[in-house]
Amino acid sequence: MRFKDKIAVVTGGAQGIGKEIALQFAKEGARVVIFDLNEQILSATVKELEQYSQALGLKVDVTNLDETEKNINKIIDNLGRVDILVNNAGITRDNLLLRLSESDWDKVLTVNLKGAFNCCKAVSRYMVKQRYGKIINISSVIGIMGNAGQVNYAASKAGLIGMTKSLAKELGSRNICVNAVAPGYIKTVMTEALPEKVKEEMFKRIPLARFGEPADVAKGVIFLASCDADYITGQVLVIDGGLV
Ligand code: NDP
Repeated sequence: MRFKDKIAVVTGGAQGIGKEIALQFAKEGARVVIFDLNEQILSATVKELEQYSQALGLKVDVTNLDETEKNINKIIDNLGRVDILVNNAGITRDNLLLRLSESDWDKVLTVNLKGAFNCCKAVSRYMVKQRYGKIINISSVIGIMGNAGQVNYAASKAGLIGMTKSLAKELGSRNICVNAVAPGYIKTVMTEALPEKVKEEMFKRIPLARFGEPADVAKGVIFLASCDADYITGQVLVIDGGLV
C-alpha cells in the first residue's frame, strides 16, 4: 500500500490510460479523484475504483481554469490536500499542416497543454503550502520525435515537456517533483482510430514487437508518484517498447 492516505487527482481518468492509472493508485491505497467529461463513463469508473479505495468522479473540463480551480478547491475542502496530480487528459485532431484547421490546432493545444497548465496552477498553491507534491504530465513520444499529420499534437506534447522541466525548477525547493511520461503506441480508443496502415508501420519500428498496454504506462506513473522517485524531478520517462 504505497499510497495509503494520499490523495491523487487524475485528469481524463474515466477511461483508457487515465483509468488504469487511477485503478493502480486505488489498489495501492490512494483516495482517487478523477476529472473527465462524460458523466456516465465517470460514474462507471468510480464504481470500479471503489472496489479498492475511496473514489470520486467530477465532471471537469480542464480547459476551463475557473472550473478547474473550483473543483480543486472542493477537493481541498473535503479531503484536505492533493498529493499527486496526473495530467493525462488529451485529444488528437490529426491532419497534414496544409489541411489542418486553426480550430483543430487550438483545440489540441488547449486541452493537452493549457489543460495541464490550469491543473498545475490550481494544485501548486496547495502543494507549496504542504511542502509536498508529485506532478506527472502525460506527454508522448510524438512530442520527442514528431510525426507527419500531428503537428498540433506533437507541439502540445513537446510543450508539456518544456513545462515539466520549467515547473520542476520552480517547485523543487518546495519538495514538489514534476516529471513527464512519454508513452509510445498504447492500445486505447485513441489509437484504435488510427488507419491500419499507420498501425502496421508503427509496429515494424517497435523493438519489443508489441503495442503497449495502459498498465505499462500506469506502472511508470506510479513509480514517479511513489517515494522511490523522491529524488527524481524534471525528467521524461519514455515507455514505448524501444520505439524512440
Ligand atoms: P482516451 O481518449 O482513451 O482518454 C482520454 C480521456 O480524457 C477521455 O475520457 C476524454 O474524454 C478526456 N478528456 C478529453 N478532453 C478533456 C477535457 N477538456 N477535460 C477533461 N477530460 C478530458 O485517451 P488515451 O487513454 O489513449 O490517452 C491518455 C493520454 O495519454 C493522452 O494525453 C494521450 O495524448 C496520451 N498518450 C496516449 C497514447 C496512446 O497510444 N494511447 C500514446 C502517447 C500518449 P472524452 O473522450 O469524453 O472526450
